[in-house]
Amino acid sequence: MELTVLGSGTVAPTPERTAAAHWVDAPPVKLLLDCGAGTLHRAATFGIPWAEATHVAITHFHQDHWGELGMYLFALRWGIEPPRSAPLTLIGPRGMRTRLTLLAGAYGDWVLEPGFPLEIREVSPGESVSLAGDVELEACKTPHTTESLAYAVRTGGLRLVYTGDTGPSEELARWAAGCDLLLAECSLPDERAIELHLTPSRAGALARDAGARRLVLTHFYPVFGQTDPAAIARSEFDGEIVAATDGDRFTVGE
Ligand SMILES: [Zn+2]
Ligand SMILES: [Zn+2]
Repeated sequence: MELTVLGSGTVAPTPERTAAAHWVDAPPVKLLLDCGAGTLHRAATFGIPWAEATHVAITHFHQDHWGELGMYLFALRWGIEPPRSAPLTLIGPRGMRTRLTLLAGAYGDWVLEPGFPLEIREVSPGESVSLAGDVELEACKTPHTTESLAYAVRTGGLRLVYTGDTGPSEELARWAAGCDLLLAECSLPDERAIELHLTPSRAGALARDAGARRLVLTHFYPVFGQTDPAAIARSEFDGEIVAATDGDRFTVGE
């Protein structure tokens, strides 16, 4: 299972970081985890076969996590030749179908009828969805918005956990237990901490409490400047820590 960080940033634009987007290659599944602004152009830059995603999973309805989903569907129809014909499954919290229906009202019927079979799958906390082959997607509630979810991708005895956006949560730590790679949001420095997001120390503590094998930090606001979030997270977690930049690739389990 391979993870590519497409966007390690947030809603705040910087040249280095676009909004949340992560690509997981877990044969036979190609999964886009969140689809914030910049996803498609970053995927093109890094040589990711974006048009071949089998599934897109959205953690919550903040714009920096799903604002480019409409553009993604548009690109599958008009951005490639020939247009896509393979089925695609969109996964998200409850309310996903209603919101996509509203988007279709604004953008056009192609949102729900893009010219290929489109399945919308709403998931609830605690649910597990079989994607394809032995690949499973599990969901856990996070304290961020009423609908926000963390996801775990499980295949071949390996487990990748992506927190989406979250505040500190013991429930999340228990659910993430023993994961091979914890991809954790790290929105704000410790001195700017708010309840609804993690900081380097909080992300490190989450990795420690979960017994994660490796911690990859993502989703940085520009306020971090030149400071190294990984160095601060190290005060809480002994394992390997990487502060991701756009384009970083990781093999889960190595
Ligand atoms: Zn959010
Ligand atoms: Zn966010």
